[in-house]
Amino acid sequence: MAKAIITVKDLHKKYGDFEAVKGLSFEVYEGEIFGLLGPNGAGKSTTLEIIETLREKTSGEIWVDGINLDESPNEIKKIIGVQLQTSGYYPGLNLSELITLFAGLYNEDIDPGKLLDTVNLRDKAKAKYKELSGGQKQRFSIATTLINKPRIIFLDEPTTGLDPQARRNLWDLVQQIREQGTTVIITTHYMDEAEVLCDRVAIVDSGRIIAQGSPDKLIDDLVASGFERPKEVKKANLEDVFIQLTGHALRGE
Ligand code: ADP
Repeated sequence: MAKAIITVKDLHKKYGDFEAVKGLSFEVYEGEIFGLLGPNGAGKSTTLEIIETLREKTSGEIWVDGINLDESPNEIKKIIGVQLQTSGYYPGLNLSELITLFAGLYNEDIDPGKLLDTVNLRDKAKAKYKELSGGQKQRFSIATTLINKPRIIFLDEPTTGLDPQARRNLWDLVQQIREQGTTVIITTHYMDEAEVLCDRVAIVDSGRIIAQGSPDKLIDDLVASGFERPKEVKKANLEDVFIQLTGHALRGE
């Protein structure tokens, strides 16, 4: 039996009169990659920020690793990793100095070089954040989630705007992090990404979960309902062509 590391029960969030989250319930299992999917405005960020203790809920109950959010939010903060706002990346500091600074805030003793290694950025230790490519910026941002050696990390659209190689490199990184035993919650607008990465997903629409399960199960359910793709799908797509031609390897991205 999978063990729940996050339990959300009947979560509601109102902004004034507007109810952005209308009774969400779901569980995230220990060690899985869990995807929160849905159109813009569905309530994904609101939900994540509430779990991250960054936003007040209106009602509902949340436990993170057995800790009740209403009772001990600070205990939850200690075991989760959240992508820091880029505004916190003081422009004068290089990556190594930024990690040392953040580690100090968390009261952690971290070897910046080792942490940069895990996201393949050791050779950029002396670079400033603004000098990085899009993929490197995202990898650095993921590194900052790992500073306090969290049990769970939250990644909000980590691959938006990246080229196909950088995207795939980020998938590898997320999988490596999970293999180290960290639970990952991720939001994405890319369904191919969710299909490759996520063990289970919840699809959110207008503040409600309209489906949840493994990508495989959701696809099988749709097919079983009689759905057929309008035309025969080719065995490859344009992204395959692009990756095949330009290579999958990590490069200066
Ligand atoms: P998603 O992450 O799925 O795009 P959000 O959680 O950001 O959705 O937003 C859900 C809804 O709540 C949207 O309609 C958004 O406009 C609204 N919303 C988000 N934050 C606020 C806020 N601080 N004040 C008022 N409305 C908000």
